[in-house]
Amino acid sequence: MSELRELYQQVIIDHSKRPRNFGALEGANRNADGHNPLCGDKVHIHVLTEGDRVKDIRFEGSGCAISTASASMMTEVVKGKTVAEVEKLFKNFHALVTAEVGADETVLGKLAVFSGVCEFPMRVKCATLAWHTLHGALEGGSQSVVSTE
Ligand code: ZN
Repeated sequence: MSELRELYQQVIIDHSKRPRNFGALEGANRNADGHNPLCGDKVHIHVLTEGDRVKDIRFEGSGCAISTASASMMTEVVKGKTVAEVEKLFKNFHALVTAEVGADETVLGKLAVFSGVCEFPMRVKCATLAWHTLHGALEGGSQSVVSTE
């Protein structure tokens, strides 16, 4: 295992054990539930938008280390971003974990720690669940349900 890969692994483990922005969000105006039946991951995303900006975001749920770490890091990264910026991040993140060409690591920043996921196709849905769910919350209004299947 390379040193970089090991560092990435440590960041993911840290976020899965101590998820950031975990819990309910008072005043949230958008919510969505996400479910990945393949692995059993469940996530609930609470978002407070102001204009077209994500003012605050928190999540709840339970799942594997990858899904929890991904939700945790996503909440850190998207806070304060516009909906358009969030969609751009999602597109690049999806490209990264599916090893599609076109993932822009300058856009992704610290989300690059998930680059190893592309070697494990079963884990792609774990890594993208929170993002699909956030997308559902932003598109679908007050309450939406998202499944990776
Ligand atoms: Zn999972």
